[in-house]
Amino acid sequence: MIDFHCHLDLFPDPRAVAAECRALGIETLSVTTTPSAWRGTTALAVGAPRIRTALGLHPQLAFERRSELRLFDQFLPETMFVGEIGLDGSPKYQAPWTHQVEVFQHILCACEDAGGRILSVHSRRAATPVLDALAAAPGTGTAILHWFSGTQSEVTRAASDGHWFSINAAMLAHARGRQLITRMPPDRVLTETDGPFTLTQGRSTRPRDVAATVVGLAEVWHVTVADVAQRLSTNLARLLSTTAGVIGDVRTQTT
Ligand code: MN
Repeated sequence: MIDFHCHLDLFPDPRAVAAECRALGIETLSVTTTPSAWRGTTALAVGAPRIRTALGLHPQLAFERRSELRLFDQFLPETMFVGEIGLDGSPKYQAPWTHQVEVFQHILCACEDAGGRILSVHSRRAATPVLDALAAAPGTGTAILHWFSGTQSEVTRAASDGHWFSINAAMLAHARGRQLITRMPPDRVLTETDGPFTLTQGRSTRPRDVAATVVGLAEVWHVTVADVAQRLSTNLARLLSTTAGVIGDVRTQTT
């Protein structure tokens, strides 16, 4: 199982959820929403190599936490994974839009300077500005568009720009989302839950619930569940291998 975008640190009992990921061998990307959450969230992954912690500054917090960019720059050499970052074009976040863009661009530049990273990117109501920003920073690394909800033409552009996608159950729950998924290259797709911010049977989604998304993908792709699991596993291995040289650099810097 692969849950490549969840917020372990924001569950009521983060240690229990992390222990569950470890026990089940779930390949997990544990994203953060502020740089100040970095230390505490990495502690959840100690002794659990399949839990990878991502350094983030969520676009909905970018305005109030922009002073934490200094911390972001400080911690970036410690990790290959960055997220949750991006832009949010919802009406509520329009006022601090300029700051959101500045924070996102700062992060992309920092990733470029660091030799590239794997990014988990939020683009709600902001797919085109996110794609434009990524196109302007080609050395950023590999962007995984998390819970992509743009238009059909935006998903086509994102695919042709070479980006990856992480798919969750909410995207599979409606025809429009399923149609977007059919336009995503299957060899650049991973699964995610975005737990605890999504619900499964009325409770917060946990990483193990990602199994339902594998079943849903099998229906959309008209293949077996085992085929999907194999495909996702191959994708993840390829994603991680492309960064092997940079990961070596990161380890050198931190040891
Ligand atoms: Mn999220």
